[in-house]
Amino acid sequence: MEADGDVKTTATGFHCTLCNVNIPNMSSLEQHIQGRKHKTLSTVRATRKSQEEHSVFVAGIKPHISQTDIAEYFEQFGPVTEVIMDKENGVFAIVHFTGTESIQEALSCVEHRLRDLKLRVKPREKKGFKLIPKKKNDPQNLQQFLDRFKPQLCQLMSVDAQMQYIVERCQLGENEKKARELLVQLLQEVFVEFFPDSQILPFGSSVNTFGIQSCDLDLFLDLDNTKKFQAHAKSTTEQAGQGTSDDSHSEDSILSDIDLSAASPADVLELVATILRRCVPSVHNVQVVSSARLPVAKFHYRKLNLQGDITINNRLAVRNTRFLQLCSGLDDRLRPLVYTIRYWAKQKQLAGNSSGAGPLLNNYALTLLIIFFLQNCDPPVLPTVDQLKDMACEEEECVIEGWDCTFPSQPIAVPPSKNKQGLCTLLASFFSFYAVFDFAGSVISVREGRALPVTDFLGHGDGDAEDAMEEQQPAKTHHKGPKLGPLNLLDPFELTHNVAGNLNERSGRSFQRECQEAEKYCRSMQYQRKSTKGKSWGLVRLFTPDGDASHAKPEQLAISVPFKLASLPRALRDQLQAAGDAFRPLWFQKVCAASLAVFQDVLGCHLVACTDAVFGEEPAGGDADTSAASLNTSASENGDGLQNDSGEAVVGTKRSLSSGSDASSSPQGKRPRLAKKSRADLPTWSFVQRHAVWAGRRKVRRELVKDSDLRQEGSCTELEAQVTARIAEKEAELKEPLEFQVHGQMLGGTETTRAVLRFEEASDKKGVFQDFFHFLEVFLPRMVETLLQKQEATA
Ligand code: ATP
Ligand code: MG
Repeated sequence: MEADGDVKTTATGFHCTLCNVNIPNMSSLEQHIQGRKHKTLSTVRATRKSQEEHSVFVAGIKPHISQTDIAEYFEQFGPVTEVIMDKENGVFAIVHFTGTESIQEALSCVEHRLRDLKLRVKPREKKGFKLIPKKKNDPQNLQQFLDRFKPQLCQLMSVDAQMQYIVERCQLGENEKKARELLVQLLQEVFVEFFPDSQILPFGSSVNTFGIQSCDLDLFLDLDNTKKFQAHAKSTTEQAGQGTSDDSHSEDSILSDIDLSAASPADVLELVATILRRCVPSVHNVQVVSSARLPVAKFHYRKLNLQGDITINNRLAVRNTRFLQLCSGLDDRLRPLVYTIRYWAKQKQLAGNSSGAGPLLNNYALTLLIIFFLQNCDPPVLPTVDQLKDMACEEEECVIEGWDCTFPSQPIAVPPSKNKQGLCTLLASFFSFYAVFDFAGSVISVREGRALPVTDFLGHGDGDAEDAMEEQQPAKTHHKGPKLGPLNLLDPFELTHNVAGNLNERSGRSFQRECQEAEKYCRSMQYQRKSTKGKSWGLVRLFTPDGDASHAKPEQLAISVPFKLASLPRALRDQLQAAGDAFRPLWFQKVCAASLAVFQDVLGCHLVACTDAVFGEEPAGGDADTSAASLNTSASENGDGLQNDSGEAVVGTKRSLSSGSDASSSPQGKRPRLAKKSRADLPTWSFVQRHAVWAGRRKVRRELVKDSDLRQEGSCTELEAQVTARIAEKEAELKEPLEFQVHGQMLGGTETTRAVLRFEEASDKKGVFQDFFHFLEVFLPRMVETLLQKQEATA
């Protein structure tokens, strides 16, 4: 095997030294050797080796010597294929020859003189090829930071002081800011040569006051004036009927190569990338990413060791950066909160997607979550964007791409907050606020400073939110709605953009779970008081990964069905929208009906008692066969609100119904929302199961699919029901029937919307209930989702 040299036998299998991976057995090893990673690395290694064997290292060059000078000089030893110059200082070069014999000739020459210079020619160093893992600027470095500053943090007297300390240690230093400014100036000078009247504007963390050392440099290349310039030059040329314009700019510019008004952003960025590569010293690794939401030219600036991003359609980001700057100037507490929470989120792996894309929060979204929390404090620490708009004067009016981006340019225009809470309290309140926040059922509006019901955003198109939008943005005629997901956070200006639209269920859940963990910790003395025994306290303990909520024990014998609006079928979404604020109980009702159908119709559980008026009457004399309730029951059949007299959501009961629209309100009390404790403990079902329907299902399913064309018919529930029937038919009954109860409970309003089914075993003499429960943990939510989706066809 060619890869033999790379593979070592170990106690547990094999180790590939090229790819630095462990492989358990021979068949996996063969797969690995044939795999993409191993093949790519082998090719790269072979290319490097060949390059080393065909080239020499040349030192003693001076900047006035060009690539061509060197190529011409070395041609005397044999054909030269390439000369690579040291771009930074131009003092050394690598010269590639076609044949290896030229190397010997060049090396055996006693003296190399090029013009007035004496060159030193050496063989290439033979470096062993080694996979260098990509440097991640995340937890490990943060951990190092924490380890380094832990003693100092622990010695400070208060959490407030610890938060200020984090800001001081992490923020961009004056020198770094200055160096970045100089780089921006340099780029401006270069770009204006090629794109007359263009402007390069920094945005993002370099300038929004929340930057950390070595954060990336986000730049917007504004080509609006260049486009005007080009259009003007074109019309003058046409009028003159000549091929050239008399404008002095045009000869120097490369605008004759591209029509900016017609070119795609990716084409323009390719040009930008070429300029960066050729004309800006110390710039490396330039690449255009055209698949991003906003295409971007990425580069590395070696001198400052920083990553730069240039975009061309990003005027809104420059404006939202100004907004963050303003907020920072409005209240001194924002910066320590942002730095601390960013740090915490990074430690808990909730924020900071490596390579830009990923399912975690980005820092912009996280900062908006902090601002929203501060808008909802009592009294508010920060005003809403709508309030800021009203404080702006006429000259500050600003509309970008049809979105109103008006706010005062200076903090002085905004009255100071009446809230005097300290940082320690505010940080703890941030965690409590989001620990119980109904992410699934709400859309966070920093613009209005309140949570809007998610159903306001269900238009008639997929993810369309035109109605809600038009109210707020009469100037806009058509916009697609925000992409709804587990965390819906509207951009303050581009009101149809969910800045957390990249999150998945798992990362959304983790954020809330970590807030819950942090909230618990913040209630302890270790958070609030400095340890007299020199132990970790305050932020140090908050940041340590020990309290990781992902290790938290799941709730005992309870299964949650999350509210996933985006995956519901159109018909059900329409019903939920029509239900308005009562969408939660209506959805819960559907989930309960689907769950009952899963227990009875799919898993053949025998319903012996039911204490719920909507899903079935208690069977007379324990008669078991109450059929599953219809999935199409609508809330309006039972009155709109489905809330009891005290405003609590009560699902699955006909008692105490009221319209409920004046129930307790959202954080700012403007919108009706579910009451604080919006829990309904109904229905309760008692079941008997006589067969181990959870055991060996996969095998039976495989047999059934082979035997019939069920799979083609696509009825997953039918197939699962048949699996159950086959098991019941073939396998012996359990010695003791399994008796258990299920209590349905709806959560939502002031915590994330979900249905919780709690299980209680009435008799489990054979200890099989645990097995059944573990099976249900995966099976039940999946089946419920399938049944809800099937509603599309029946609605
Ligand atoms: P850092 O680079 O330190 O992670 P940042 O604030 O610069 O923080 P980036 O992800 O680099 O974050 O984004 C740069 C800027 O682009 C943001 O400050 C914001 O102005 C804008 N931006 C980023 N993500 C979004 C988004 N999802 N929606 C709208 N604007 C965004
Ligand atoms: Mg950035």
